Amino acid sequence: HKNTVKLEFPSIPDNVALARVVVGTMLANMDFTLTDVDDVKVAVSEAVSNAVLHGYQNRSNGLVYLTITAEPEGLEIIVEDYGRGIHDVEKALEPAFSTLPERMGMGFVFMKSFMDKLEIDSQVGRGTRVRMFK
Ligand code: ATP
Ligand code: MG
Repeated sequence: HKNTVKLEFPSIPDNVALARVVVGTMLANMDFTLTDVDDVKVAVSEAVSNAVLHGYQNRSNGLVYLTITAEPEGLEIIVEDYGRGIHDVEKALEPAFSTLPERMGMGFVFMKSFMDKLEIDSQVGRGTRVRMFK
């Protein structure tokens, strides 16, 4: 059977940990190895951090939407924000590319390598939707 959980939370950095715990708890009831669970938790943290840090530029008045669907076929995770959007998605996916000098530019690289599927829809000035599957 299918289990869909939706969370909506303000763009405050503390909520990255919250998202991580919720996903980890849902995964515990599925057929994943401990390594898989850790990988998914990293991917979710990266996507939610990006929504807070880049999407809403660290302003706490944005809303982040997290949808987790656990199915027999696997796990789907969608992280959405209605923030600034990504100017060039291809470029954003490149290792070490970041628009903030203090960041490593590795978030998308981790999401891509730790998950089986990564899809990014983004529009400048409108927001970003990251869909991942494992
Ligand atoms: P790190 O994840 O290593 O801390 P980073 O966040 O800059 O660094 P990525 O997560 O790979 O690296 O993201 C690459 C770039 O894509 C970001 O620097 C930012 O410009 C853009 N980006 C990513 N997510 C979003 C988002 N939700 N909204 C707007 N821009 C984003
Ligand atoms: Mg990042």
